[in-house]
Amino acid sequence: MAGIITDLTDGIRRLQKLNKEMSELELKEEIFNLRQLLMDAKEALMSAQETKRDLEQKIKDLTSGKKCSICNEGNMKVIGVIPHPIFGPVGDQLRIVQCDKCNHKEEIRFKPSGA
Ligand SMILES: [Zn+2]
Repeated sequence: MAGIITDLTDGIRRLQKLNKEMSELELKEEIFNLRQLLMDAKEALMSAQETKRDLEQKIKDLTSGKKCSICNEGNMKVIGVIPHPIFGPVGDQLRIVQCDKCNHKEEIRFKPSGA
């Protein structure tokens, strides 16, 4: 994703440098390249949004008493909530959940605002 943004920025910079010496063919090629880069960026963005949705669902599942990922039998229960060590200042929490069967523990970043 970051690579695509760099490529797009470079492309836009090249367009800004356009001058009369650039042939119509070169211009068309540049536009074609930029269009391709935009399509790649759109695809990457959609894929990232999909990943985000999956992760949000996983967090929701884990924090709402869903199955343990280790034993696949017990339910994960929230046993503690502390401010997130890094993102605490912006309101994020670290929820400690524990399996009620095998005692497996996980720490999950949680945004109380839901934002
Ligand atoms: Zn378990």
